[in-house]
Amino acid sequence: MIQLYIPLNFLGVIYREIKQSLADMERLFALLDQNREIADAPDARPLQTQGALVRFNHVDFSYESKRQILFDVDFTIPAGTTTAVVGHSGSGKSTLSRLLYRFYEVDKGAITIDGQDLRAVTQDSLRHAIGIVPQDTVLFNDTIAYNIGYGKPGATQEEIVAAARAASIHEFIESLPDGYASMVGERGLKLSGGEKQRVAIARTLLKNPAILIFDEATSALDSKSEQAIQAQLKDIAKNRTTMVIAHRLSTIADAHQILVMDHGRIVERGTHQALLATGGMYAQMWERQQARGDEELPAEALA
Ligand code: ATP
Repeated sequence: MIQLYIPLNFLGVIYREIKQSLADMERLFALLDQNREIADAPDARPLQTQGALVRFNHVDFSYESKRQILFDVDFTIPAGTTTAVVGHSGSGKSTLSRLLYRFYEVDKGAITIDGQDLRAVTQDSLRHAIGIVPQDTVLFNDTIAYNIGYGKPGATQEEIVAAARAASIHEFIESLPDGYASMVGERGLKLSGGEKQRVAIARTLLKNPAILIFDEATSALDSKSEQAIQAQLKDIAKNRTTMVIAHRLSTIADAHQILVMDHGRIVERGTHQALLATGGMYAQMWERQQARGDEELPAEALA
């Protein structure tokens, strides 16, 4: 029995390894595919930002021809301000960020940054101008220094350390046996959700983008890490055009503007106070959240 068990167990390990590297390849192909769909226009110019005002101008969008996802979405994020997007799961929040990054093309309307249509600028310059702190940061199977330095090609070790310090992850990295040379990712050291987000924040600080997209994690971190990360993000977002895809209302009460999405449409917009005064969908979500006394629960889970 033991003789049989050992090889089977060993096979299990190999199988997991293969599955994980396939997962890497899938991600790679998914990215390549997305890039293939979108090509630079022959006369595309580099995006020039001056404050980075973002405008969605009556945008319609569908991933597949039969199912429209966004309907006449129209809003402006004034330069240097923060707009939060809330709404039930599947209402189209993340789709907005994917369109701003130009992973997909809009069907109708236009998206502009400082008056330049995304279709008229080079993808390189667009992606250079946007920093994303995703819900779940994927780490490359490489050193932690590489994973942070990826934000800025050619970054020096000093710059990487400075970004890590600013993201409050330097001390953690120094405590690892191999420090900045420690291998992380699927085949290396596994980091907690909060640590991974800090790596993403350090990466973004190094990139220093004109526009920041923050896709808030659905699963709450412990509240101490959560508060620390929120404070850091507030710092990065200051005077930077920022779009927050929010899952917890408590984290966005001071956004300059909140957009409430429902089935692909913006159904309400305004500040936290104004939306509460209106007594609409946002106010209901907020009340439910308050009544349960559980600020950390995702808004859509309370719907
Ligand atoms: P959540 O809060 O759960 O992240 P969301 O509001 O961000 O949801 P989106 O991810 O923008 O929602 O998705 C909006 C709709 O588009 C959903 O119905 C989803 O199933 C659909 N959708 C998302 N990505 C794709 C895709 N690649 N192909 C086809 N449909 C998609």
